[in-house]
Amino acid sequence: MKKLSVVLLLLISVCARANEDIPEMNDKNGYVEPFQMFDDVYYVGDKWVSSYAVETSAGLVIIDTLDFPYSKWIPINLKKLGLEAKSVTHVLATHGHSDHVGGAQYLQAKYGSKVVMSLKGHELAIEQAEKSKEVNKFLPPNVDLIVKDGMTLEIGGKKFKFYITPGHTEGDFSLDFMVQDNGAFHRAFVVGGHSLSAKKPELANQFFASMDRIREIALIPPVVTVNLANHPHKNDLFANRDRRHNGTETNPFTSENNFFMFLDQQESLAREEISELAQSVKSD
Ligand SMILES: [Zn+2]
Repeated sequence: MKKLSVVLLLLISVCARANEDIPEMNDKNGYVEPFQMFDDVYYVGDKWVSSYAVETSAGLVIIDTLDFPYSKWIPINLKKLGLEAKSVTHVLATHGHSDHVGGAQYLQAKYGSKVVMSLKGHELAIEQAEKSKEVNKFLPPNVDLIVKDGMTLEIGGKKFKFYITPGHTEGDFSLDFMVQDNGAFHRAFVVGGHSLSAKKPELANQFFASMDRIREIALIPPVVTVNLANHPHKNDLFANRDRRHNGTETNPFTSENNFFMFLDQQESLAREEISELAQSVKSD
């Protein structure tokens, strides 16, 4: 009897520990209920960082993976959306900062996903993983496919086109692909690094060049109408979710100007940052 209670106690503590591993899914921790944006695109990110699940005929593609251990919400979110039967075939991590790459290895280990990153993005991911600690400790993923500028990757009937767009970090990539809304196609764009990093102001020239290039690419027909920014406050994501919930005639995640306004805004924010930096240098 005594033996049985020891085993039971052990079992309970193992289960409790397994649960502890997953951060509590509450507002304070930034948890957001997942939701569908298009026929084939879902939001599975949190309050601060975006993560999108794109459905293809081969399975799911996850774009960006949140900070670890919040990445553990992604499979739970997929289940909530009824997508648990689909495997995650690919994980695309737009750059090497922990809030985008933190869960890549976790998803890779869980689903056997192929991880797609730029070479410099992966180098940064390794650095960030080495610096990560305690509950946020994560491992860098193994990269299965290195992003090359202009590369197209066809996954389950969907074509993803990649562009190397440095400026936020040295290894940012952006991508575009077509999404479907009630069967109609719209061109979506993910800007991989949309702000100037205060830690690397020397990347400013690359940042502005990338923004200009992205604008040019996005204006090539079919013009981009879907802004899949990798932080939700950059594409009015939650306001649009609520608008959609209240019922609008057109899908609020499509817009003729949201993407271009976002690019302009990011450029002016970067300019402000540079002038503030110049001011502080002068006053030092
Ligand atoms: Zn970043």
